[in-house]
Amino acid sequence: MTHMLDQPIVYLNGSFVDKNKAFVSVMDRGFLFGDGIYEVFPSYSKHIFGLDLHLSRLQKGLKSIQIQNPYSLNEWKSIIHKVIELNLGDNNQAVYLQITRGCDRDRKHTYGDISPTVYVQSTGFDVRSKQELLKGAEVIIQDDIRWSQCNTKVTSLLPNIMYAQMAKNLEIEEVVLCRDGIVTECSSSNIFIVKNECLYTHPKGSYILPGITREVVMDCANACDIPVVEKEFSKNDLLEADEAWVTSSTREVVPITSVDGIKIGAGIVGEIWPLIYERYQEIKVKQ
Ligand code: PMP
Repeated sequence: MTHMLDQPIVYLNGSFVDKNKAFVSVMDRGFLFGDGIYEVFPSYSKHIFGLDLHLSRLQKGLKSIQIQNPYSLNEWKSIIHKVIELNLGDNNQAVYLQITRGCDRDRKHTYGDISPTVYVQSTGFDVRSKQELLKGAEVIIQDDIRWSQCNTKVTSLLPNIMYAQMAKNLEIEEVVLCRDGIVTECSSSNIFIVKNECLYTHPKGSYILPGITREVVMDCANACDIPVVEKEFSKNDLLEADEAWVTSSTREVVPITSVDGIKIGAGIVGEIWPLIYERYQEIKVKQ
């Protein structure tokens, strides 16, 4: 059954409830410390793109901060599908899932034997049309001031949200992050450049979030016989690139035509982007 209610239904600790009736304690370590892991799953007309890849990243994240995964893969899948089902119109849904370490009796850095808090919501998201994306997008570069465990999708996102807000205030697509002269990723997306018909992106490791879209884009490139190299590149390489794109589950693949006010390539969307875009559109609905 599809609910088209104003008030979305969310999942909280075993129950499906109205969002305005979903509360957690002030003692929750998610609230007090940002002590948790999250995940975002894109769903296109009920089909969750990359579901297993997202669940596997979630499991790795929980393990790396020593939170016991409270559910099996199948239990997760059924909760996620039910939240989508309860909120679905005909549109695309972004499922947000967060697991915090839970509530303790007092606020202390250390914790006792507590059970995690689980929250899942689903909200509609708009995908930009090809025509819209072909207008190109702008980014700026800032220092990557984050910690060095960026491969874990932790809910404590202060530097990321500050940079995302900076992009919003400037009405640009993203803030690209640069650590010791090397471009890592962006406030909430990964970044690719194209040079001489070859694709480059920062290698996996502790300085980037291993984006699922990044993975899918590399598969798309392989399918189109475009070489991909996971290799560090500098701010200068970005400025001198033929093309640049940012990728994430809800943005998909966004072509960048200007960095710090300087044109990328000819200042228009390049020739490789449409190949990847078309392939991505095909597979996102029939994976
Ligand atoms: N890097 C960061 C810092 C992000 O927040 C995101 C989006 N969550 C990504 C990359 C892209 O990840 P994905 O493709 O899995 O959405």
